[in-house]
Amino acid sequence: MAHRLPILLQERATVTKADPRLTITIDGTAGSGKSALGSLLAARLGYLFVDTGAFYRALTLAALRAQVSLEDGPALAALAQTLDIRIEPPTASDGRQYTLQLGTEDVTWEIRSQSVDAGVSPVAAQPEARAAMLPLQRQLARQKGVVMAGRDIGTVVCPEAEVKVFLIADLETRTRRRRQELAERGADISSAAIAENLAARDRLDSSRDTAPLAQPPDAIALDTSQLSLEQEAAIVLSRIEAIRGEMTAQ
Ligand code: C5P
Repeated sequence: MAHRLPILLQERATVTKADPRLTITIDGTAGSGKSALGSLLAARLGYLFVDTGAFYRALTLAALRAQVSLEDGPALAALAQTLDIRIEPPTASDGRQYTLQLGTEDVTWEIRSQSVDAGVSPVAAQPEARAAMLPLQRQLARQKGVVMAGRDIGTVVCPEAEVKVFLIADLETRTRRRRQELAERGADISSAAIAENLAARDRLDSSRDTAPLAQPPDAIALDTSQLSLEQEAAIVLSRIEAIRGEMTAQ
């Protein structure tokens, strides 16, 4: 992985005792709303939002293009070392939460294609591929003032994070939301195909040996099926306020 930090170029306020900057992790099942909540929290708090799924997706896209086997861990890790993956602020008003650059190419939507959806969990199950991704993710998490979303952020990448969130939602809700997102971009994918991909990824992500999807014991667990984004954000922001209060009182 290129050692250029994929920083979101946001103004970052100075850390003061009155405004301690935290690391917030959001893990959860596929399509449970991690990016929507993460980017909203980051915008409200003036934090960076880092979607680690985008890194695994970019690696999968590069592997598909280079015809590297999606189950060849050492080859995937070698490929990862050659890639320049950067997350940047949105460069277009087309519903994106960030722009994902692979070298000089904007692959923001291509990493959401059906072929990447189908290939990403097998790639992410390879220990060597995960090991190649980990140092950069840890470096980003350590910056503070970061909201980082994924599957193993609160458990493996940043177990010391002050605030951890774990999101789930029923498959029907996740399928409906994903279908709507795709329709907004002009893609007409059947509900059955979407549901099958979400369920298959959850199965593989939860059952792999390395860094499986799991709820951190100290996480705020939210089922987003019945919650609006604003309700979710309010719950997490009130926890953040409580933790900041405890930190400043010390
Ligand atoms: O979050 P998103 O659905 O875009 O993630 C795509 C895939 O990347 C997941 O299904 C999972 O296989 C992998 N992933 C992971 N660990 C992370 C983030 C994503 O294994 N921290």
